[in-house]
Order: sequence, then C-alpha cells, then structure tokens
Amino acid sequence: MADERQYDWASLGIDVTKPSIARTYDVVLRGKDNFEVDRAFVDEIAKIVPEIYDVAAYNRQILGRGVRYLAGEAGLRQFLDLGSGLPTVQNTHQVAQSVAPESRVVYVDNDPIVLAHGRALLAENERTTVVTADVREPEAILANEEVRRLIDLGRPVGVMLVGILHHLHDDEKPQRVVDVLMDAVPSGSHLFITSFCASSQEAIDAEVQYQGLLGTGRFRTPEEIEHWFAGLELLEPGVVPLPLWRPDGPVPNELTVGHKLMYGGIARKP
Ligand code: SAM
Repeated sequence: MADERQYDWASLGIDVTKPSIARTYDVVLRGKDNFEVDRAFVDEIAKIVPEIYDVAAYNRQILGRGVRYLAGEAGLRQFLDLGSGLPTVQNTHQVAQSVAPESRVVYVDNDPIVLAHGRALLAENERTTVVTADVREPEAILANEEVRRLIDLGRPVGVMLVGILHHLHDDEKPQRVVDVLMDAVPSGSHLFITSFCASSQEAIDAEVQYQGLLGTGRFRTPEEIEHWFAGLELLEPGVVPLPLWRPDGPVPNELTVGHKLMYGGIARKP
C-alpha cells in the first residue's frame, strides 16, 4: 500500500487526508496506490453493497470487451479515454494495441496521481500519453496540444467516458460534455459510457454515502444513461447492466444488486 508519510504528496498536488475517486477505485480493484482514507471510504460502501469489488471488476471487464470491439470490428485506431483512472491491468492502450498495434490512446484524468503513475507506465510507449485535465471543460481537452498530437479529429475516435459521468452533478451538465465531444469527432466515431445506476434500494443508499463522503456520485436511471447517447446509433444490446453487454462467457440467470449497480453501452456516430 502507498504510505501517507513516505513522500511529500502535497507537493505533487495529492491530498492524502480526503478520499479521491481514482484512489478509491484503485482500492476496489485491489491495487496498491491508495491510502487509509480511501480504504475507509470503501469499507463504508461495502457495508451497503458488499459486491462493490465485483462491480469494479465488471467495469474493467466491459472496458476490455468494449475496446476490443472498437479496435476490432469497428476498426478504430484512436481513443480518447476520459477519467481513465490509475493504471491497472489491461488498460485501454494495452487492449487496443493488442488488436491493432498502431492504435493511439490519450488518457485524461483530473487527479494528479494518475499522471504521476501513468508517466512511468507509458515512458516506453510513444503512441500513448496521459493528460491532466477536467472533463467538465471538454473544449480545453479538445484543444490540448498533447491531445491533438496523438488524436486526429478528422478521423473516427473512440470517445470513452467509462465510470466517470456519475461523478458529475446535474449542474455540471454531463450531457453538454458528451455533446461537445461527439460534435467534435467525425462520423464513424463511437461513444462508450458506463455509469452507476439507481437500480436498487442499495444503489440509492450507496449514492447517499458517495455524496456524503466523496462529494460526488449521482446514480442515474437507465433512461437517463441512455439519453446521453441521443442522436447516435446505439449498438446491440443497448444500455444494459455491465455483465450483459456482449458477454464473452456465461451470464448469470438472476441479476444481483452488484450486477445491476452499473449500466453501460456503446453507440456509433452516424
Ligand atoms: N475509466 C476507468 C475505468 O472505468 O476503469 C477509471 C474509472 S474511475 C472510477 C473514475 C476516474 O474519473 C477517476 O480516476 C477520477 O479521477 C476521474 N475523474 C473524476 N472526475 C473527473 C473530472 N471532472 N475530470 C477528469 N477526470 C475525472
């Protein structure tokens, strides 16, 4: 585990006194780049949804299946992965480049810990980069020099908002973020979203804890999530609980709270 006392984290812009979204996600992925305050937050969530660790795994699994589809059948060679999180196993660039080695990937996150760890991982990979920026300012991301160096906005892009839009409050206008990004990319681009879903009483209780302890977390209805794809061609099977999106193994007969805690889907820009 990372040690709160080992470094001058503050000099890197990293606050070890409050849980961070990227680090709490690292806890549920059973990573080691997190602090006591992050683990304490996850303990509270696990009291409501004990399957929270499985939920993180479902999200990483759909990320892998989705990127394999985008780089494979959909033929995309450029990926803008927004709210990319700390590097873990089977990151977007590893999945995409295993299908098509020429794939370019830009990771964007507003947590400085992502850049600190991402730089080391990507030092050897010239087709992949990490940018520190805020998804609530999509125009700035599209204009960012490092983004433009790797992403040609004249060619189809895989726009990924995987596990991030539920961290935007309604007044931060997630639909606007989606629309600005999708307006900037050409026909044939794809939008890939996963999000916490208000699919059970436990989900609604977890939302209260997220907002109270983390300051963000808006669990939306399936209809609200589907609306983000308006104007695009939603691919089969639509916006569904994560384990049901193009599964590559057996699917559960009956869905649990954990299976349904996040919904997701992919759409193509016509
Ligand atoms: N996309 C990865 C995945 O699904 O495995 C990581 C998801 S993680 C749950 C959400 C990430 O979004 C965190 O790393 C967090 O720092 C980032 N994030 C949250 N709000 C953000 C914002 N406004 N701008 C950029 N990144 C943000």
